[in-house]
Amino acid sequence: MSNFSEKKGCWQSTLLNHFPEIFHGASTRERPRQQIFNMSYEFQEEAVVTRNRRDFLKELSGDASAHIISSFQTHSDHIFVFREGDDFPEGEIPDTDAFVTDVSGVALMTKTADCQPVFLYDPVKKVVGMVHSGWKGSLQNIIGKTVQVMRDEFAVEPSDIRAAIGPALGPCCAEFSNPKTELNEAAQPFVRPNRHVDFWAMSVAQLKAEGVQRENIELSEICTVCSVDEWFSYRGDRRQGEDLGRLAGVIGLR
Ligand SMILES: [Zn+2]
Repeated sequence: MSNFSEKKGCWQSTLLNHFPEIFHGASTRERPRQQIFNMSYEFQEEAVVTRNRRDFLKELSGDASAHIISSFQTHSDHIFVFREGDDFPEGEIPDTDAFVTDVSGVALMTKTADCQPVFLYDPVKKVVGMVHSGWKGSLQNIIGKTVQVMRDEFAVEPSDIRAAIGPALGPCCAEFSNPKTELNEAAQPFVRPNRHVDFWAMSVAQLKAEGVQRENIELSEICTVCSVDEWFSYRGDRRQGEDLGRLAGVIGLR
């Protein structure tokens, strides 16, 4: 179901690849010329990160000039909406973890390392969404709230939405010392007997609860911790020494 293209050096959703009017993908951690293909300004100097972002956009869309919308992510449930005629935000938008737009030539970008990059697209109304949902985002249902914004502000029918969950912390590696007290009620059905939590299944359930159809939801089923050689992973990198960077999840209308 999923499509991890070694040649392209990114993960793309098979479901979303049916729509040539959009570009999307999640970046791998390395490129031949660049030792670290990091997308977050927290880890490298500005010029390097900006070049990495432009290089990745070029790979995805053939055009590096799309306007990038990204943010200081705070594991909140704050969603930024960008409409035709709005001023482009200067730099990283503060305190925001998801974006929705119907404007062409805009690249919505999240930065993650174990948190879930969630790609949303309604091919009927031509609206895209990009969500950063770590475990704290899962507890706050930022994915479901982003679908609600698409529905309420852009008249999207949730049953038209295609959703893809990119490389992220899998149930194999999401161990909590005491999930009963560390997580809320909503997460309990996804706690396994071994104290591991299936946040992928929780995201699928959150999408379905808003009316997204199961057959329109794709899971990459790539665990970033298990595949730390290919993806930035907060848990995996720290196990080997230090947190080194963030991968980009990008979606936009051409
Ligand atoms: Zn794993």
